[in-house]
Amino acid sequence: MREMFVFMIKGAYDNISRILFATGRKTSIPMRNKILSGQVTYPQVVNDDSCIGCGACANICPVDAITMVDMEEPVRITEEYVKERRPVFDPMKCMYCFQCHDSCPIFAFYGKPSAIHPRHVGDSKVNLKELLQRPIVIKDKKEFEEVMNLLDEKAKKLLEGGI
Ligand code: SF4
Ligand code: SF4
Repeated sequence: MREMFVFMIKGAYDNISRILFATGRKTSIPMRNKILSGQVTYPQVVNDDSCIGCGACANICPVDAITMVDMEEPVRITEEYVKERRPVFDPMKCMYCFQCHDSCPIFAFYGKPSAIHPRHVGDSKVNLKELLQRPIVIKDKKEFEEVMNLLDEKAKKLLEGGI
C-alpha cells in the first residue's frame, strides 16, 4: 500500500513539474522560439537546375507529397525535349520513404546517389544541355557487352513467345 502511495505521489509530482516547468521538453528554447515565430525554413530538396521535369517522383510518391506544376517559362533541354513542369514538394505530407530519390533518373530529388539520402540538395548550378551532351563512359566494356547480350537473349525469348 505504501509503495502504491509513493508511486502516485511521484507520478503527480512528475506531471505537475512537466506542466509548470516543462521538464520533459526536448526542443531547445531557441529552436522553440524559431518554430513559434515561423522562422524555420525547410531545406531545398529538389535540385531544380538538374531536374528534367519527367514526373517520375510525383508518380511514385505514395502519399502525393509531390505535385508537378506548369513552369511559367519552359526550358528547352534538347532539340526534342522541353521541360514544361517542375515538382513542388509538400514537407507536411512526406513520410521520408525516399522512393522519389530512388526513382529520379538523375537524382535531382534529395541529392546525390547514396545509401544515405541527404535532406538538403545544396546550391548547385547545372547546365542541363551540357550535361546531356556529355558522352556516356563505359568503364567495363566486357561486362557491358555481356549485359547487352543477355538483354538481347531475353528480348528474343519474349518475341518468340509472341509478345
Ligand atoms: S520521400 Fe517518399 S513520401 Fe516523401 S516525397 Fe519522396 S516519395 Fe513522397
Ligand atoms: S524524378 Fe527527378 S528529374 Fe523527374 S521530375 Fe522528379 S526530380 Fe525532376
